[in-house]
Amino acid sequence: MDQRRPLIAGNWKMYKTQSEATETAKQLIRYVGAVTDIDMMIAPTFIALTAVFAAIKNSPVALGAQNLYWEDEGAYTGEISAPMLKSAGCQYCIIGHSERRQYFGETDETVNKKIKAAIKAGLQPVFCVGETEKEREAGQTLSILDKQIKKGLEGLVSEQLDPLIIAYEPVWAIGTGKTATDDQAQEVHRFIRSLVKNNFGQALSDSIRILYGGSVKPDNIASLMAMPDIDGALVGGASLSAESFSQIIKFKR
Ligand code: PEP
Repeated sequence: MDQRRPLIAGNWKMYKTQSEATETAKQLIRYVGAVTDIDMMIAPTFIALTAVFAAIKNSPVALGAQNLYWEDEGAYTGEISAPMLKSAGCQYCIIGHSERRQYFGETDETVNKKIKAAIKAGLQPVFCVGETEKEREAGQTLSILDKQIKKGLEGLVSEQLDPLIIAYEPVWAIGTGKTATDDQAQEVHRFIRSLVKNNFGQALSDSIRILYGGSVKPDNIASLMAMPDIDGALVGGASLSAESFSQIIKFKR
């Protein structure tokens, strides 16, 4: 729908030192600093947030974090809270990425707490959902997404969900070079939008942005973005180079 402004987001995962991240951010601004018809975000590691923010703060590229802890402060060694991310310049926070679910024990319950904490602090959650290859082969894709979305958003009402962004990332397509076909992705995006409608109403389902993630590259972005329910992309590997990420951002539209 025309009213949904596309968002292209880069997840830099555990790559780049502080100086490498800052350099890539500066290069990116040189490529996309004049882009005005799309929202853009990069999510470096926690330790690079402040330096990257200094490099991008007067540009159209916004800052995101890759995770947070749901308490505002306290004796939680090694954790970082939503208000701390906000004060470091973040506008967005990726929550529930499949790598966090797979390697760090993230569950639908912890994802739910993190989404609530992000919204409370004024951050836009980029809430990641997606099925594994085994689940897809077993015909469970839609039921897994139904569960992840219901549990992830439990206790929230539509009035609170304006900042929410959902990222559909089939786990089997992340970092593997396998991409869902445009039609496979569209089918799931349409289903997610219908879930949002059934649980939170028509207005939110019309306005919410649903990103696709999983081996997005300069050569597949345009056809994915041509799908009616795909509103942007969450990009891992191809966001690490300013050149390829800028090609994705500047896809033919
Ligand atoms: C991701 O990390 O969210 C992702 C989609 O990675 P990649 O683009 O490398 O598949």
